[in-house]
Amino acid sequence: MSESKTQFRYPEEIGPAFKETDGLRFSDGGQVSAAEIWDFMTKEAPVRFPNAFDTNIYFRGISTDANLFSGIKRNYLNLTLKDRLMESHKKGIPAVFIQGGQTVEPYYAAGSIPVRPGVVNGWARNIVEGLNTRQSNQRGMSILEGGRRALTVDSCGQIAAHAALEENLVPIDLVAPYLCLRCSDMAYLVESHRHGKTTVPLHLVDFPVGQQGEWRKEYLITELETLITKINKISNKKLTDEELRDELKQEIKRENHARQLLRESYELRWSAKVPPTNSVDHSSTVSIGIDGCGDFSAATDVLEETRDETKDRVKHGVKGTGLADDPVRLWVCGSCVGPNAVRVDRAGGVIIGKDDWWSEAVTDVKETGDPYENLAEAILSFPYELPTEERAEWTARQVKKSRADGAIFYFAWGCNYQSGVARMIADIIKERTGVPTINIEAEITSAEGLEQPHNRIESFIEMLS
Ligand code: SF4
Repeated sequence: MSESKTQFRYPEEIGPAFKETDGLRFSDGGQVSAAEIWDFMTKEAPVRFPNAFDTNIYFRGISTDANLFSGIKRNYLNLTLKDRLMESHKKGIPAVFIQGGQTVEPYYAAGSIPVRPGVVNGWARNIVEGLNTRQSNQRGMSILEGGRRALTVDSCGQIAAHAALEENLVPIDLVAPYLCLRCSDMAYLVESHRHGKTTVPLHLVDFPVGQQGEWRKEYLITELETLITKINKISNKKLTDEELRDELKQEIKRENHARQLLRESYELRWSAKVPPTNSVDHSSTVSIGIDGCGDFSAATDVLEETRDETKDRVKHGVKGTGLADDPVRLWVCGSCVGPNAVRVDRAGGVIIGKDDWWSEAVTDVKETGDPYENLAEAILSFPYELPTEERAEWTARQVKKSRADGAIFYFAWGCNYQSGVARMIADIIKERTGVPTINIEAEITSAEGLEQPHNRIESFIEMLS
């Protein structure tokens, strides 16, 4: 592949200062130095994953804020996830396909690595290396269309991740998502594997959505115990029940710490006149804070550095690379999809928060007492999973706190749950806060096929500026 004219490169002159910073520590005791990260991000990654560095109009890759060193390390974690997943798989550490708004303590505690559909999609695309943006998009589309042909055209685009699994493009060891959380299609997609080619084990974690009463907690505790036991059986860890309980306690502490760091960064960012990080850095930080990018130890190192750099930038009035001097602050609602963060910034906006991931970040799990009970209590209280009116009231409060100028409810084509609640939530936000709102439906598809939603977002930003 020839190198694109729009290929981003980290400036050589920042290399020496970056190499002086701390590297990352992994949960298996391994480490990578800042010099090794620099080498990977400046030599190896642009060749293996050129689409991540391509800053053309459809760009959805890494952040180009080269002076945010924690961002370079986060990009390193994201771009090495494929290698780390393959390596873990060889060592008997299962990759578990998940979905829904749960935090991931049970999966890591039982010795697996949880992967959401977006990760599975990226993993399947990146199995073939050296693809430019167009080639990567076409590969993604072809996997998606394979899923549609094999199963249905009615499902949301997350069918692509299931098609990747069905075609054995990525080694998934267990499909074990939560069901009934905010999602219309995942249950159906999981069940579809029972009739497909794949023999991957399936396990559904039921969630008592819309139900009342104390029984919900007991029910969820049993679901969590069953999930952990099931993963433990296929993991190389093979822990006793007591050891699993201890692991879960440790994992809760680890992830509470990550959530705390995320909240600190978020609130610092909200406090600044112009956000100190752009929309790409923001969105990607939230994702590693909740999911850990395959390794919560390394993710926590990145989150600590992000918090410190954010604090420093706020103190010195530094704005995120690519942001306008007075950007339109946008709150984003909805699951699985969101506006192209680069396009938002280029149009004079900035993503200031997103209800989905933030819902998990604001919910700590109690650290004393029974870990299953504590986790069940936390899961049942996620604001995003509450009855729609309560979810909307909570979201309106976040819109106010973040000083958002407008809110976008963005949902995937085929997503019956989110499309069904979008209008009501947007109306309640508008009524409580006075900020304009817009609902946008988009396909989970090639970045090149999203001109219409982008045009609408750009017009919305223009209207608010
Ligand atoms: S887009 Fe909607 S239906 Fe599809 S997986 Fe996400 S939440 Fe579920």
